[in-house]
Amino acid sequence: MQVDRGFGIGKLFGIDIRVDWSWLFIFFLTTWNLATALANLHSEWNVVWRWGLAVAAALLFFASVLAHEMAHSLVARSRGMPVNRITLFLFGGVSNIEKEPESPGAEFVMAIVGPLASLIIGGVLLVVVMGLSGVTTLAMNRPNEALQQLGPVTTILIWVGAINVTLGIFNMIPGFPLDGGRVLRSILWSLTDNLHKATRWASWIGQGIAWLMILSGIAMTFGVQIPFFGSGLADGLWLAFIGWCLNTASSRSYQRLVIQDVLEDVRVSRMMRSHPSVIQPDITIAQLIDDHIMRSDDHAFPVIEQNALVGLVTLDDVRSVAPGQRQENSVRDIMTPVDALVTVAPEDAAATALQKLARNDVRQLPVIQDGALVGVLSRRSIVRWLQLHADAQI
Ligand SMILES: [Zn+2]
Repeated sequence: MQVDRGFGIGKLFGIDIRVDWSWLFIFFLTTWNLATALANLHSEWNVVWRWGLAVAAALLFFASVLAHEMAHSLVARSRGMPVNRITLFLFGGVSNIEKEPESPGAEFVMAIVGPLASLIIGGVLLVVVMGLSGVTTLAMNRPNEALQQLGPVTTILIWVGAINVTLGIFNMIPGFPLDGGRVLRSILWSLTDNLHKATRWASWIGQGIAWLMILSGIAMTFGVQIPFFGSGLADGLWLAFIGWCLNTASSRSYQRLVIQDVLEDVRVSRMMRSHPSVIQPDITIAQLIDDHIMRSDDHAFPVIEQNALVGLVTLDDVRSVAPGQRQENSVRDIMTPVDALVTVAPEDAAATALQKLARNDVRQLPVIQDGALVGVLSRRSIVRWLQLHADAQI
């Protein structure tokens, strides 16, 4: 999944950590929820203290999700699958792992360590805190009374412990692309020796579970009691919403696999645009706009000097220069130099090109053969090709 709105917050073990804007919403919701719960449990604590604790707990929740993703990423890396970044968003995290696992065993280990990390963190916290405060038996019968006896630190640690256990259990739901679905896929993969078939089954099961959640959620809004989930409008809508998201993710990840499969058999040379319009590095940006951009539909222009590719300039590069400065600056000043460009060869599979486009978040790739530019492959061309060819095959 390409989640790229948001901001970076630093590096951990050499992996970029990013936060998607949607995560801020969850952060706010969590803090608010918790502050409200604390107000009911401990009206004797003052309001600043309660909100401070809620923020601290929400930050620990953030660290928990990060630990879960870190477990996936570190195992992936130790198995030779490089990890660029981890992005935290609405429903947790996504590790941007560059390759699909090469064997069922690798996938199994990579998938299961995430929920395992959550369950271990959660289990240890709950056991330690309950052991220290001695509320275990009381908690079984009268949880609210037990919580009221806890101090501030133990209260948030119990909450963080419980949320980690929930995170671990939720991710083990056997619907692809959740971790549990990946575990299931790895088992089916090793049984059938067919990744495609395994993915199809795991994603069907995922969609089945998703529909079950949607229907149960709807039933709950009408007052039906569902085991573990209870009843009621808010909880029902929430369950249905999660089911709907799982359904979308499940069918989308299967579609992606089908697309990859279709593109595996097609060469870049069949989709690329040969003889793209090229430009010289020393023309001004104003000239680039007047003589090239306004006269074509292209989004990117290869820059050629003495018959060799020296860079690529895109509409986004041009937009980054203030209109007043477009007379003074040349294309060379704003282009992406050739060393920093990601390129493909005409005989590469289109699937490889699509992966490179997605991974580097670019819209087009120069196609290079024996050091010379022979074409440009854009996302649009791939989409057009799929529109024309995929229907018959999907
Ligand atoms: Zn996970």
